[in-house]
Amino acid sequence: MDELPHVSLSGTAHECGVIHGETFANEIRQNVSVYLDRFAHHGVDEQTVREQAARFLPRIDEWNPDYAQELRGIAVGSGVSEVEITLLNVRYEVLYAAYADENTGVDGCTSFGLLPEATADTHTYVGQNWDWAEPIADTLIVTEHCREQGPDHLAVTEAGIVGGKMGVNEHGVGLVVNGLVSPNDGDDPFRKPFHVRCWEVLEAERFDNALEPVVASPHACSSNFVIGHADGEVIDVEASPDRTGYVYPRNGVLTHANHFITDGFESRMERQLPDTLYRARRLQRTLDQHSGDLDAESIESGLSDHFGRPSSICRHVNEDAHPQERTQTNASIIIDLTDQTLRVTCGPPCENTYSTYRVGGVT
Ligand SMILES: [Zn+2]
Repeated sequence: MDELPHVSLSGTAHECGVIHGETFANEIRQNVSVYLDRFAHHGVDEQTVREQAARFLPRIDEWNPDYAQELRGIAVGSGVSEVEITLLNVRYEVLYAAYADENTGVDGCTSFGLLPEATADTHTYVGQNWDWAEPIADTLIVTEHCREQGPDHLAVTEAGIVGGKMGVNEHGVGLVVNGLVSPNDGDDPFRKPFHVRCWEVLEAERFDNALEPVVASPHACSSNFVIGHADGEVIDVEASPDRTGYVYPRNGVLTHANHFITDGFESRMERQLPDTLYRARRLQRTLDQHSGDLDAESIESGLSDHFGRPSSICRHVNEDAHPQERTQTNASIIIDLTDQTLRVTCGPPCENTYSTYRVGGVT
């Protein structure tokens, strides 16, 4: 596959959105179509999804006016309706509410964080393989925000979604994420959306400001956030709708997949993705073997592991699965927080090369 499309966004929040929308209008329309088909496959009609998305927009205006302005700018730039752009930005919340009983269709992933004592260059890293619906590989983009207000940041996101899920900002704050599932997900979907929280992490100037969006208010649905800082900190926050748990690196290495590992949670994702039970552990062992000398080669090797293929760290499409339920590693991401560089593949890392982007300019 080719490298991910990249766009630099500047000006006001609304102007950034317009550039995003104009640049990726076709990919945004494709993304809306993919998600509506996916919702329909799971028995959720389009009208219900649209009504739910419409109820979110005024709330996003209250939670984060800049985010809402950029969202509206994307609608203007792409010619796609505000409701459909909102639908993309709250897809987690819509999915969880829709799938309350079966909880299929939530992103899988294997993530990591590395402290300076574990790496050959003594830099701090976060990264992950992002496993999700196969067609979404065609709508992934890299955005670089250089706005009038707020820190510059780089992020990997989907066309039409303001909040980058994996990224790094000019203050050395970085984020990668995993899907999680617990019993109360979606009971109250109208809480600050996952993608808005991701955005707020990448807007942070200090590490405590980066943790606040994740830990300070109730969530609509479960998710895992690996948040790092260039000065040698990484904390993993497991969040369910009503509580949070914390995981810290061990010997400078931290890994996570799609089940809760701290006490007090009822974890559900492993019912659909039993492979989560070995992916993080295998990556941890691989990284531990090279701890103190971890470099691009050893990290990439860990992310290209095929034990259990296709349900492996480097995930491949299971041809026996229903087309609407096929997933793969759509992007492999390695973020150097010290150098503020983001390296990313488009597609599984075993068969695609990493492209490098730097905050303040493509390298
Ligand atoms: Zn592979």
